[in-house]
This record gives sequence, structure tokens and C-alpha cells, in this order.
Amino acid sequence: MSLALDIDHSSAPRPAPSGRMPLVGLSKAEIAGKLGEMGLSERDQRMRASQLWNWVYVNGAADFDRMANISKGLRAELRDVFDLTRPEIVSEQVSNDGTRKWLFRFRDPAHPNMPPVEVETVYIPESDRGTLCVSSQVGCTLTCSFCHTGTQKLVRNLTAGEILAQVMMARERLGDFPGGVRPTDGLVPAGETRAITNIVMMGMGEPLYNYDNVKKALLIASDGAGLSISKRRITLSTSGVVPKIAPTGDEIGVMLAISLHAVRDDLRDVLVPINKKWPLEELLEACRTYPGVSNAKRITFEYVMLKDINDSDADAKELVRLLAKIPAKINLIPFNPWPGSNYQCSDWDRIESFADIVNRAGYASPVRTPRGRDILAACGQLKSETERLKKKDRDAFML
Ligand code: SAH
Ligand code: SF4
Repeated sequence: MSLALDIDHSSAPRPAPSGRMPLVGLSKAEIAGKLGEMGLSERDQRMRASQLWNWVYVNGAADFDRMANISKGLRAELRDVFDLTRPEIVSEQVSNDGTRKWLFRFRDPAHPNMPPVEVETVYIPESDRGTLCVSSQVGCTLTCSFCHTGTQKLVRNLTAGEILAQVMMARERLGDFPGGVRPTDGLVPAGETRAITNIVMMGMGEPLYNYDNVKKALLIASDGAGLSISKRRITLSTSGVVPKIAPTGDEIGVMLAISLHAVRDDLRDVLVPINKKWPLEELLEACRTYPGVSNAKRITFEYVMLKDINDSDADAKELVRLLAKIPAKINLIPFNPWPGSNYQCSDWDRIESFADIVNRAGYASPVRTPRGRDILAACGQLKSETERLKKKDRDAFML
């Protein structure tokens, strides 16, 4: 039996089942265009598009009734054209270290009869920042051997609206919109008025295989008249889709992270199989020439610590040598095991010895502290618990 996947790469807006267009995820020009179809003059299109933008992205309005500077009559018309429905929250878990994990449920606007998809988003508070880890796809087409998402088939790309909805929902739940209520257990980074200061595209999926939607979502998220998250505080992580790296710098202009994980092609071919298509040399060349890269705007290289696989001193030295000519930060990630994984995390003294070599080469504090382990919110674990629960439910059903 063959299964037709709905892998839509376009970022063209798609109407909701009601025929209404989800407003979150439309560009300002697209909103204005819709207003034009409603018969508004060009001047009014621009003015109303800016008002809607402000209500939705600055004030977090999920209801046209809040839009006090728009007449009741026009609000009713807008309600017939635009959809402001937020995704359903399936679950919200809070870790004892303050990390929060949400499971959101989305319906595909273009295919209302398709089953809804579930997507995980994680918030990680630290003393100097609050980072939201956002998903770009449901599942992943790639099959990195240490990553749990890699064992799940790609279900579909998320739309720009669905990527942004993760940010909007997290902002709402953390009380980041004006007048919002901050949860009493929520940590807010010192000196910041917002709980979410940074976004990382490090949830489920390969963002550069959903380029158009990710680009659209990040340009909206960084718009100064809207969500206003600075491009310097947005990091896109890729396993190495080389042809899309330069466009990411040119067209999106966010910070780049590379899932390196190995310093030799033979090993990287196994850990990150996209390496067979775009090997290390091509990947590193794309990094050297990443538009905007400088010592003030470094590329982050992620390196997962796998016991007896990639964690020797020789690997550390080769890592430093490979990155010598690139403005780089190094992020050593303790491997997060998942049920059925074939790897173990390196021992702590091995990680320290590896980190020492990296440190001596001038890279500061390179080991990422694991967060949210009690709620399975760590890298590569996203959605595993949900899948397991579902299996349990299924098993119960079968009895
Ligand atoms: N697809 C993109 C972004 C999502 S993965 C990418 O691969 O870069 C985000 C990061 O988590 C990547 O660096 C990935 O290699 C890492 N990761 C995946 N599974 C992991 C695991 N089990 N333990 C530690 N890090 C993991
Ligand atoms: Fe996909 Fe990234 Fe996981 Fe590789 S590490 S399977 S690219 S999500």
C-alpha cells in the first residue's frame, strides 16, 4: 500500500475549513491584499493591516472583539474572512527546573479531513535568557541515527502560521503579552520584561527542508512592529542542507547552528546521513561564506557526545582544527538516550577532557546542561512520550 504524503513546500496561504484564512502567518502584504478583496481602499488596506498586525502580534489578540479601534461592522466582516483560532493545547508540563513543554494540536487548513497533527514546543528559562525551542515539521525525512525524531516518518511540513502559533501560544501561557498573567512558577530571565527572549529552531524537523514556511515565520517573528524578537536572538539549526545555507543568511538573516556531530565523513555519513549528499568539506565551505558571519555573529556547531563513537581527544583536536577558520561557537550536547537508541552518553570525565581541549583552543563554556529531563523535553526526545502513551492507549484498546 502506498501512502501519499502531503509535503507542501509552498508558503502560500491556505484557507481554513470554514473558507476563512488563518491570519497568523500571513505577511502584511497578504493581509492588505485580502482587505483589498473586501473592497477597502489602498490607504485603508495599509492602515487596517497595520492595526491587525499590532492587535495580533503585539497584543496577542485571539478575538476580533478586542480590536477597539476597528468598528463593529468591519470587525464582523473581518471575522468572515480571517480565522484567529489558536491551536488546542493537548498538554502542558512543567519540569522541576522550570522547563515547560507543550503539546499543541493543529488541523491542516487545506485538508480538514486529514487527522490533526501534534507538535511539541519547549521553553527553557535561564538566568540571562528564556529560550523557546520551536518545531518546523511533524517528524523528519532525515534519519540521524542518534535522534528519536529521525525514527519518525515525516508527516507534514508545518505552515508559517503553525510555526508562529507555537511562539504566540507560549507567549500567552507565559504572560508575555501586555496585560498577561505570568505563571507563579515561571522564571523570567533577570533584566528582561519578557519570558521569551530567544527562539531556536531546534524542535522536530529539518527547518531547511521547510524553507519557505520557516523563512516567512521567522521574518514575521522578527518584525519590529510585531513579535519583535531580534534576528540575533533567533537561531536556526540545520543538519546541513548546504544549498539553503546561503539563502538563510541572505533572506532570513538569523543566527545559524550546524549539527556537526562528527569530524570525519565516514562517521558523519552514519550519524547524520545527509552528509552523504553534502559532505563535511562542502558544509564547512558554506559556513565559511555564510552571509553576515563575523566574530560578533558566530556560527554554533552542535556536537552530541556519544560514548566511544565521537568523543576521543583526537576527535576534539580535529574539531578545533576543522573550525579554525570559521567564527564559531561549540556546543557539546550530552546525548539524551531514548527507548531503543543504540548509543550511550559519553562518561562525564570524557566530556570534561573533550571540553578541555575545546576550551584551550579558546571556546568558552561549551557543554550544554541537560534541561527538562524529567518531562522528556530534551533534544531528540520530543514527542517520544506522546508516541508511547498512544501505543499504551492503543494496546489498552486492543484488549
Ligand atoms: N533538524 C535540525 C534541528 C532539530 S534537532 C538539526 O538536526 O539540526 C536539534 C538538535 O538536537 C540537533 O543538533 C540534533 O542533532 C540534536 N539531537 C537530536 N537528538 C538528540 C539526542 N538524542 N541527544 C542529544 N541531542 C540530540
Ligand atoms: Fe531530523 Fe535533526 Fe533529528 Fe536529524 S537530528 S533526524 S535532521 S530532527
